[in-house]
Formats: sequence, C-alpha cells, structure tokens
Amino acid sequence: MKFLPGKQTARVLLTLILVSACSTLMAQPPGWNDPFPPHKVMDNLYYVGTSQLGSFLITTPEGHILHSSNYETSVPVIKAGVEQLGFNFDDIRILISGHAHPDHIEGDALVKEMTNADVVVGRLELPYHQSFDTPGGKQQPIDIIVDAEDTISLGGTTLTAHVQAGHTKGCLAWSLTLEENGRSYYGFIECSLNGQFLRYVDNPDYPEIASDIQQTYKSAKEIPAEVWVSSHGVFYGLNEKYAQLENWQPGEPNPFYDPDGYKDHVEEFEQIFMDTLVRQVTEANRQPAD
Ligand SMILES: [Zn+2]
Repeated sequence: MKFLPGKQTARVLLTLILVSACSTLMAQPPGWNDPFPPHKVMDNLYYVGTSQLGSFLITTPEGHILHSSNYETSVPVIKAGVEQLGFNFDDIRILISGHAHPDHIEGDALVKEMTNADVVVGRLELPYHQSFDTPGGKQQPIDIIVDAEDTISLGGTTLTAHVQAGHTKGCLAWSLTLEENGRSYYGFIECSLNGQFLRYVDNPDYPEIASDIQQTYKSAKEIPAEVWVSSHGVFYGLNEKYAQLENWQPGEPNPFYDPDGYKDHVEEFEQIFMDTLVRQVTEANRQPAD
C-alpha cells in the first residue's frame, strides 16, 4: 500500500472498523446514532446525520430534500438536527434513499409516514428494496425510480444521479451546484467507495462485482468534486472538517472545500480494494490438495 499521511491512515483504520457493519445484516452497532452537531456544509446543503451515519438536508423555497434516512432509530436524531437548524421536518418533500444497506434505508418508511415525501430509489437497487425486511412490517416506499444521469429538482435546486456500482449494485451518488461568496462549486454527495468487506471471488449474488467497482474507481476519479460528503462521516473527514468549521474565520476557505482530499480518498479506497482483491484471489487459489 502506498504511503498515507498519518491523519489519513487513522481515518482508513477507523473506516475499516466502522464500516464492517455496513455490508452485512448485522445488528445496529452501538453509538452509531449518537447525535452529531447539525451544520451547514455550503449554501443550501446541511449535515443532519448522526455521529457515524451521513444524512443531508438540501433546503429550497419549495420544501426540502432529505438524503438518507439511515436506521429507523436514526430518524428522531435527524429530525432534531433539522429543527435545530431552524427548518421543519414536515417540509421535506423528497427523500433520496441511501445505498441499499440497512444502515442507510431502514428509516425510509418512517420518514415517508412522517412527511409523505416522495422516495427516490435507484433502479439497480430496486430488488434489495423490494425484498427488504422493514421494521414493524411497514412497506418499503418507492415513488421515483432513477437511472444514471437522471435529475431530481425542487425549488431551484437540481441533483444529478451518478451510479457508483460495487459497494451495492446501484450505489447512487449525487452532484449539485453550490454557491458561496459569488463562486460556484461542484458539490458531491458520494455513495460509498468502500470495497474492503465485499466478496469478489465466487459471488453468486453479484458475479460482476469486481469489474463494477473497478469501473467505479475509474469514473470517480473523473468527477470534479470540490465540496464533497459521503454516506459515512469517516470517509470525508467529518470530525476534522467540523472542528475546522468551528474555528472558521471570515476570508478563510470553507473547510468542506477539499478537491485534493477527494482525489486522495478515491486513490486510497481503490488501493484498499486492490489489496483485498489480491488477498481473496490468492486465498481462493490456495486450495488444499486432496
Ligand atoms: Zn454500505
């Protein structure tokens, strides 16, 4: 593995520990729903997630878009964050569902129940949603189905869908334009590039997983992300950036403006994937002789 600066290495290690739960159906890890201070990222993009699970509010004059409900038990934390920022949870008109793992979509039905928002789901994620075992037997809501490059618009804000297949079959990222001090920025809500805990050899549920995720790293490098966030705070250095935000002085760059950090992040996660792939292929070839 290439050399990584200390802070980044720490982040990777933390990621590896935390995200092991993301790709499986294991129970909710303790502490994941601890509150995190809700805050403006830039322009009309706000963080309303928990200490470990990203959730984002995009505000508009015609109501709001929520990205990711997370666990059902995350929803009250998200609602409190929205209200702490001075917005009404009832004004959420659209819920963009997170990627098809329980820690990002379990709360969709509850958010639908509370707000009657239209729920946006990627087409390639549909089979997972349709078979998802929702708490309390609620129906998993699906109102708008999107493909790559489709857009969702509300009150003058448009988000464009990008498929980042691999972590899940239709892992969706979203781009939007953000403005601050007269400048426009390429805002990016990443899906998950975490390829550490996936099965690449003999995966009957997803035979093309390795080639999909390789293509995703390639296309992720071409995204000109300037202000970027992700499905888990550890992926984009939430703790460090929020600490900088608290000490942010007028005239200094917004701590979430981080195009170089984005490029480093993609390369770092691609390297972790390649190491994982090599290990799995090596193990598969090391069959005991009968
Ligand atoms: Zn996941």
